[in-house]
Parts: sequence; structure tokens; C-alpha cells
Amino acid sequence: MYELLNDPLTTSLISRSGKNNRIVVGVPHHAPLGTHKLPTLNKRSADENAGLVGIKLAKILDCSFIIACNYSFDVNKFRGSDYFRIIKHWQPQILIEIHGHGNGNAKYDIEISSGNIERNYLAQLLAENLNSINSFHPDLAKYSISGDFQKIYFQATASKTINTDEWLSLHIELPLTLRKPCSGTDKTANNLSDLFCYNLAESLKKIFESNNLNLGENYAV
Ligand SMILES: [Zn+2]
Repeated sequence: MYELLNDPLTTSLISRSGKNNRIVVGVPHHAPLGTHKLPTLNKRSADENAGLVGIKLAKILDCSFIIACNYSFDVNKFRGSDYFRIIKHWQPQILIEIHGHGNGNAKYDIEISSGNIERNYLAQLLAENLNSINSFHPDLAKYSISGDFQKIYFQATASKTINTDEWLSLHIELPLTLRKPCSGTDKTANNLSDLFCYNLAESLKKIFESNNLNLGENYAV
């Protein structure tokens, strides 16, 4: 699986049904580090290394995941894509989609959306929780976070997997520094991406609990 994730030339769809399939982590635009563009017609930006973050998060949550690698079309924009159809088949209660930004359009380091203003309460709640948990770690506290639909750039309104009433959704845009293993001598910085994943999982568990989401017996918060 990790070989495929790090192969810049192979298109693949990697999915695994976890213990808890009411929660699904999706990554539609994964490419390995160093592959800046996907082989789509308009050469859209790849979400470098986002698949590794998605797998890490799914492991912590013990839930299902699906990752589209080096795809030649934009899988979360089409209801007919294999990516969409597998998620629909799983019938999750919530989809957490991990993305990566880096072209300077984002207004915050981490932007969270549920696809439209009416259903964005969950995104706002996650942003507040994550901000509060990250504030305890100086290296993470410096990352700005917003789930305010009217202020963020990545609203995900065109994403069929996010802007839907079939399940709850959270579209999470991350900067490259939280997606790649950091180099350097600072041991804390080396693990920043891992630490962020744990904080994200903790924040998600908190909002699931506070919203009384019925996520199945196997999921203990
Ligand atoms: Zn993306």
C-alpha cells in the first residue's frame, strides 16, 4: 500500500474497510511528495502526501479510508466516480476528507468546511476544538484555523462528496508542513504531522460526542 502511495506514475484507488465503517476518511487528490500536479486535463494541483495523513487519521479512529492516487480526473466532483461510489456503498454517517493546499489561496493555514453555509456548524465546531487542543503545543499553536464559511477560501461547494445531505462531511485543507515528515534536528518538529493527526482525531471525537452522533458500538469516545 505504501509503495503505491509513493509511486508517482501509477494511478490507484486504495481503500480499506475499518472496524468502524460509519466514519470514513477520504483523500481524493493524493500524489507522492515532489509530484506537484495531478495528470488531469488542466493539471490541477496535487495534495502531496495527504494520503499518508488520511491513513494515520483512519488508524487512530479505527475507521474506513479511501485514497485516490494520481487520478486523471477530479474524483470528488463526480457522483459516478469509483471514489464516490465506494463511499456511497459504505453509507457512512460522516466523511472526513483530507486535502492539501499550497498555492497561496487559503486565508488560513487550516480551513474546514462542510460544503454549504447551512450545514457548516460541524466545521465551525471542529475548528474551535482543534484550535483549543493545538494551543497547548507551541509548534501547532501558530497554525491559524477557521471553519467560518464566509471567511475561508476552500468552501468545497463544488465537491459532490462534501456538499451532500447523504452524510455529514468535513473538508479539511492542510498546509504542506502538516502533511510531510519534517526534517531537522528538533525532535518535536520531526513529529509535528503525527502530533497534528492525534489532535485532529481528539477534536473529532469531542465533536462526535458533543453532537451525540450515533457512530456505532465499536467507537468509544
Ligand atoms: Zn484536494
